[in-house]
Amino acid sequence: MSGPAALRALPSVDQMLKAASVSPLVERHGRVVVTNELRAVLGDIRIAVRGGGTLPGEDGIVASLLSRLDQRECSTLRPVFNLTGTVLHTNLGRALLAEEAVAASVAAMRDAAALEFDLATGKRGERDSHLQELLCELTGAEAATIVNNNAAAVLIALHTIGAGRQAIVSRGELIEIGGAFRMPDIMQSAGVELVEVGTTNRTHAKDYINAIGAETALILKVHTSNYRIEGFTAAVPGAELAAIAQEAGVVLLNDLGAGTLIDLSRYGLGREPTVRDAVAEGADLVTFSGDKLLGGPQAGFIVGRKDLIAEINRNPLKRALRVDKIRIAAMAATLKLYRDPDRLASRLPTLKMLARQQAEIRAQAERLAPEIGALLTPQGYTVEVCCCSSQIGSGALPVETIQSAGIRIAAPSGSALEALSALFRSLPRPILGRLQDGALVLDLRCLSDEAAFLESLSEVRGHAVA
Ligand SMILES: *Cc1c(COP(=O)(O)O)cnc(C)c1O
Repeated sequence: MSGPAALRALPSVDQMLKAASVSPLVERHGRVVVTNELRAVLGDIRIAVRGGGTLPGEDGIVASLLSRLDQRECSTLRPVFNLTGTVLHTNLGRALLAEEAVAASVAAMRDAAALEFDLATGKRGERDSHLQELLCELTGAEAATIVNNNAAAVLIALHTIGAGRQAIVSRGELIEIGGAFRMPDIMQSAGVELVEVGTTNRTHAKDYINAIGAETALILKVHTSNYRIEGFTAAVPGAELAAIAQEAGVVLLNDLGAGTLIDLSRYGLGREPTVRDAVAEGADLVTFSGDKLLGGPQAGFIVGRKDLIAEINRNPLKRALRVDKIRIAAMAATLKLYRDPDRLASRLPTLKMLARQQAEIRAQAERLAPEIGALLTPQGYTVEVCCCSSQIGSGALPVETIQSAGIRIAAPSGSALEALSALFRSLPRPILGRLQDGALVLDLRCLSDEAAFLESLSEVRGHAVA
């Protein structure tokens, strides 16, 4: 049926709500949602019929309703398979938490918690107290505080120590981290005047010494975490910089970025300076992220001199940048795992993934390739096991890659490759790979749940892509 007769025959929202196949949907999604979606479905049909389309039957209307309800249900922030090869992928939420941290945060979410309440005295407590001792134990620092992320840690430290005064930074360390975190802009937001010294590739002790004046509040050292200057270079080692700062009576703030608490060379990775190293070198304050190599939830830490940490805690900005009980619970559980370094790599998912050996990943790729091939080869795709290289991501060890393995899917055409990537992205649990040399590469370093992966992949069946 089509035309005006079809429009007249179109059921009303009320009629559809009474249909036997719709009432279970009302039960599940609620009357308001189903009514709104039905109205939208019927509106679309009305437009289609006016344009010469035919009137669908009740089944057709219910099918459209179902698909709209499913889409509404489906969260945009849903779990994905990160097969991009970047382990700490900022756009995919960085570190995966250990089960201990997940359990601790769930418990904190569900019930009231002694967040700022001292159970021993019955008096008001401090939210940082749950982490302070652990952080000092793991870094060798005198005191510690926690804020929303490392950008916030740098901001509040700069503002507290240097607002209205100057900070000296090497031109080789004026970094942009991405997403509007540019050191000069952060300085400006903190009300600190930037004094650049040295050149892009070489900065010497005398450059710092000559720049120090009455207005100098601090020297900022920034770990150039997402790039490396190579060749004819010079930078002043942390310990020497600490001595210069101390001599001049100014603060040395070291922004470490990724901030690992352990020596990663133990797991076959390059050596990043640890927080303990930075503290031992004599930095007055060290800032680092909670969700990079540390493997916890998003957070920023400042560790160092007790008097300076106390000053930072008195800054009204602290209240604006503070962390909630859910993350404090997850962070405390994560930090506790570091007390047992021997079992760390089996309990901390980020470290576990970074430490996986290529041979093990390759064996996994060989197990999975036939299954993927069975789905995609009939459609003209070529599926093969390949070697690839993963990276840590989030700016840690930027030039270092880790030998890995995965599945390489080549397509009969560029549009077929694009169609396959789009289909993978549209799955209930999307599969995200990396486009490389005209193929889609699925780096399996971060794949732990093979069964879930195969189940998600099986949804591809019946979708002609190429
Ligand atoms: C990542 C990074 C930051 C920003 O940290 P967030 O936790 O993303 O806010 C700042 N400084 C350096 C050196 C970094 O590597």
